[in-house]
This record gives sequence, structure tokens and C-alpha cells, in this order.
Amino acid sequence: MDLLKTLVDKGLRRELPTRDEALAVLATSDDELLDVVAAAGRVRRQWFGRRVKLNYLVNLKSGLCPEDCSYCSQRLGSKADILKYTWLKPDEAAAAAGAGVAGGAKRVCLVASGRGPTDRDVDRVSKTIEAIKEQNEGVEVCACLGLLSDGQADRLRAAGADAYNHNLNTSEATYGDICSTHDFSDRVETVKQAQAAGLSACSGLIAGMGESDADLVDVVFALREMDPDSVPVNFLIPFEGTPLAEKWSLTPQRCLRILAMVRFVCPDVEVRLAGGREIHLRTLQPLALHLVNSIFLGDYLTSEGQAGKADLDMIADAGFEVEGTGTTTLPEHRVNGTDAASGCGAHAGGGCGAHAEDGGVCGSHAEDGGSHGGVCGSHGGGRGTCGDQERVAASAGEGTASGADAAEKASAGRPDLVAVRRRGAGTDLAPNA
Ligand code: SF4
Repeated sequence: MDLLKTLVDKGLRRELPTRDEALAVLATSDDELLDVVAAAGRVRRQWFGRRVKLNYLVNLKSGLCPEDCSYCSQRLGSKADILKYTWLKPDEAAAAAGAGVAGGAKRVCLVASGRGPTDRDVDRVSKTIEAIKEQNEGVEVCACLGLLSDGQADRLRAAGADAYNHNLNTSEATYGDICSTHDFSDRVETVKQAQAAGLSACSGLIAGMGESDADLVDVVFALREMDPDSVPVNFLIPFEGTPLAEKWSLTPQRCLRILAMVRFVCPDVEVRLAGGREIHLRTLQPLALHLVNSIFLGDYLTSEGQAGKADLDMIADAGFEVEGTGTTTLPEHRVNGTDAASGCGAHAGGGCGAHAEDGGVCGSHAEDGGSHGGVCGSHGGGRGTCGDQERVAASAGEGTASGADAAEKASAGRPDLVAVRRRGAGTDLAPNA
């Protein structure tokens, strides 16, 4: 398949695919699926070998958010029966983080619901970061606290934070459909603030909110334009009690195509398989390890993942290895700033050009695919900035189950697979790690 050969060549050179090439990946058939995985897997192995980085989520403050992100179980008006609690104390958060590190995680992600932190909240989180770093040598800490105000990124960096997460979630064009209380540019601005403070930027997306293929390509190109070091890919967890509860539009095959597309567009970036992997990829989870080089261990913010031991077994059985703290995750050219030619976002020019405008940023928190995440649902059609997209999808899809067909195939949904988190942070029960 010429498309895959071209994409592998570009990925190995860290060169940006064209928009049409990215769209064509999403439009490949089920017959071509393993070829797509193998091709993107070559790019993944070039930059990350067979290493899998484990990340561990600690929900510092759960529920009761004043924002209205439709995908989020913690949103304003959410009826989801999730754990609700205010800020964990630094020692409580450090204990939860320690369980994740003991389970093999090299990064701890500290997340709090809300539009953004107050300066007092930044003080609390700073103390938590210090406690975690004191107790876990070499651990990386990422903060995910929502929209940042002036100076807050610098203060988090000074407290020892290594990274900041804020997802763009979906395309700029559809952002208004998933949230009315902040916009895409707010998110982009926070990612830029984090980068300016010297924090490693983490920003990703949520798929399965009713977006078109063009929307997915738009958000991934916008992410690349911002050049984050890590890109979490969430698959919507349709929580009962949220506006997107009925939105089951993903198949395992569709998830793999999306991950492959992200890998081709961001070849040398830490691509993280995030929330929703268990419920949407189901038995195909191990195939995703050929595409991503990073996953979350154990539970998510407000939902339960599979047992941490099952994560470790899956990695070993698939022939991959957990990345240790002594190994640098990113390729040398990104770490040493010698990335003259590529990387996610490094070259604004290539291929994307047309809609790079401003990237977007995390929705404050969407590291878990469901608890925050975003969905839209309302435009399944072909909004598209690029007139070619429908042509590409139509030409590639004969007799296949991509795009809308896949959505139809998945419409029954698997709400039985969504389990609200009842253990770990904010409870008296041991964390899943
Ligand atoms: S994603 Fe974050 S900002 Fe949006 S509703 Fe959820 S907790 Fe609030």
C-alpha cells in the first residue's frame, strides 16, 4: 500500500504527513488494519523501541466543577454517581502516588477538577509535588489543574513539577459544541504558558464525541503545531448522567486507526493511550501498544481501569517492557533541542499549514477519557476544513467499516463496562496500581 510506505518513510524522517494522508489512515478498511498497525508500529519502534511508559493518575479534587464540558462526569449538573471530594492533603496524595510508583509508574499526574487553580490551590499542589518528589526518587510529576493564570506555571515549575497537562480535546471548529464556559483559545494559551515556564507540555484529545474524521485530523494537527512532548489520546467514556451518555460511536478498529494516525502525525512524541482503552479497544488493547509508547496504569480519575497487574501482564505478553526511571522517554533530538526538522509541531510548515491557527489545549483535564473529556455529538457529518476529506473517505472505504459505518456498528454501546471509581484517592480503599 503506497500510502503506508509513504507514511512510514515520513515517520522515520519525522516529517509531517499531509492532511489527506492522515484522513486516509482513518478511512482504511478492516482488511488493511493490521498493515496500518504494522506500519505505524515501525515508526513507534524507531523512536521508542518496545518501551512502555506507565503514568499514574491521582485525582486531587473530584467533582463539583463549575464548567460544563459535556464529556466530563465532574461537570456542572453532572448526574454521574462519581466520588466527590475536595482537595486531598499532600500526604494523602503522596500515598496514592506512591502506590502508582510502586506499581511501575514513572510519572504521576496530579489532576484537580475546576476551571483553574487559585493561587492558594497552587500552594497546596506545590506542597504535594514536594512530598511526592521527596518520597519517590526520580519520579516525574505532571500537574493538570485547568486554565492557568499569570505566574502559576512558573510557581509549579519552581515547586518541582516536570510537566503540565491541558488537552485540546477536539477541533477548534467543534469546541463550542462540547463546552460553553471556556473556549479552544483559552486552552491553547494555558499550554503556551506551561511551555514558556519550562514545563514539558502534555496535550491531547478525546475521540468518540461525535466528531468527523476531519475534526480528528484538525485537532491532531493543531496539537502538533503546539509541539507538546506528550499527547494523550482518550476515547470517550460515556458516563451515565452526562450529555454524552448515549454516545457509543467507537469500535476497537476505529480506535486503532485513530492511534495510528496520531503516531504518523506525531512520530517522535510520547503518544499515550489514555482513558477509555478498556471499554473501547477491549480485547484489542495489546495491538495498541504497537502504536503508543505510554499508558496509564490502573484507574482513571472517576472510573476504574483494569487491574494494574493486568496492565503489566498485557505489556509483557505483547513483548513490550515497562520503561524504567533511568531511561529518558523522548528521543535525544527532542531532549537536547536539536530538533531542527521535526517532532510534533516543530515544523509549522509542513502539510498542515492551512489550519494550524492556534492549536488548542487540554480541556483542563481530560487525562481520563471520560471524566473530563469532551464530546460533541452534534456534528457527525462532514464539517471539514479540507474539501478533500469526504473524497478520501469515500474512496478508501469500499466494503469496510470505517467512519460512520463503524459508528453504526458500535451503536449498541457497552455501558456495562463503565465502572465508577470507588477505590484509591478519596476513599479508604487501596488504590489499583
Ligand atoms: S473537564 Fe475539567 S473543566 Fe471541564 S467540567 Fe471536567 S473538571 Fe471541569
